[in-house]
Amino acid sequence: MCSLREMKLHLALTLVLALSVPAFAQQTPQQIADAELPSLITIYKDLHTHPELSTHEERSAAIVAKELKAAGYEVTDHVGKYDKPGLTCFGVIGVMKNGDGPVVAVRTDLDALPVHEDTGLPYASTVTTKNDAGQEVSVMHACGHDIHMSTFIGTARALAKLKDKWKGTVIFIGQPAEETVGGARALLKDGLYTRWPKPAYVLGFHDNAQLETGHIGVTSGYTYANVDSVDVMVHGVSGHGAYPHKTKDPIVLSAEIINAWQTIASRMNNPVDPIVVTVGSIHGGTKHNIIPDDVKMQLTVRTYKSDVRERVLAAIEQIAKGCAMAAGLPNDKMPEVFVRKDEFTPATYNNPDLTKRLVGVWKQSLGENNIEMVDPTMGGEDFSEYSLPDHSIPAVDVHIGAVAPEKIAESKKPGAAPLPSLHSSKFAPVPEPTIRTGIVTMTSAVLDLMKK
Ligand SMILES: [Zn+2]
Ligand SMILES: [Zn+2]
Repeated sequence: MCSLREMKLHLALTLVLALSVPAFAQQTPQQIADAELPSLITIYKDLHTHPELSTHEERSAAIVAKELKAAGYEVTDHVGKYDKPGLTCFGVIGVMKNGDGPVVAVRTDLDALPVHEDTGLPYASTVTTKNDAGQEVSVMHACGHDIHMSTFIGTARALAKLKDKWKGTVIFIGQPAEETVGGARALLKDGLYTRWPKPAYVLGFHDNAQLETGHIGVTSGYTYANVDSVDVMVHGVSGHGAYPHKTKDPIVLSAEIINAWQTIASRMNNPVDPIVVTVGSIHGGTKHNIIPDDVKMQLTVRTYKSDVRERVLAAIEQIAKGCAMAAGLPNDKMPEVFVRKDEFTPATYNNPDLTKRLVGVWKQSLGENNIEMVDPTMGGEDFSEYSLPDHSIPAVDVHIGAVAPEKIAESKKPGAAPLPSLHSSKFAPVPEPTIRTGIVTMTSAVLDLMKK
């Protein structure tokens, strides 16, 4: 038994204890995501209505910086150095230090695309601007980077509120110029891993135009390809179209080279290693009856493994020169093959151990039925740059479903139109629960990697 006085003291102590435990201590990422959603949807719609082209993300970067600051992060803006002189880089870095522990980075991109929006949404973009070539273009968040920024802000808020559940340093990377690539490289060039702590893990995410909202898609190992841009100049000896025997026709030669390149995938490559060699542009000649001096071609070359990449690039040159030799071109008129090193994007590799660990986390935080294993693609993503060469920093880039289930069902009916893809003028991700799912995905992943 205790006296009334003791009881009062006990009650007072209990009250003090209850009040000293912060209200957020009991919160889960799911609850925080729910609570933050209305404000994030407002931010999302605003970002969607005000898209900005790659390297021009001034307003979007300012919103991301402001929100990170408001959530308690130490923020640096205008981070990044492009190779092109005179171009401002709108990178945003937000850091929160919370004692000793691992450094984990989370990345969003900021940029939109030169697409005329045709979604009919009440918050659709009507923005037009001049592109770098001086042409008037429409601008749209057709890749959903506005979904990314909103999810990123939500994740930053959630981790700030859950500070008692993790230790270490979390770095939020707002990256410009993903669509044109170069943004990730510009941040690294400006000391992303020297001015700020180098992460032990890097996490990225991308909305997905084929996957159900509320679901996430995961790939282990290679998920996006090495992307090389290659210029090929095929020389010939020009002359009159009526006298081909007096010329060396670079157009016929180019046709032969293009056909011979098809044997790189079909005959020279191990079939278990995916590769793509696409000639996306070919230009030669001015008139019906003139055999021109040269033909220019532009290729995109996709591979996963580094050694496969080297072999494919070497084969492109070897075949072009071999065909030219067979056509009787002299040594000084061999085709010139130029691999644009400044435009190279390395393959994105989801570290298998980290992927396995996070899939376990996501089964808990999102529910087993909401995780789908998805196939890799030969698309490209400069998220890969953050892993550094040879994927030395473990990273995972996860797909966040963004399509209403009834739309998916509709698209599967016989004769139905396919779902609009990313970059389509009709791509309209469902903000809710896509953003909520993204926040829970990223927050639960960071919490596991940094848990106390
Ligand atoms: Zn895109
Ligand atoms: Zn994108």
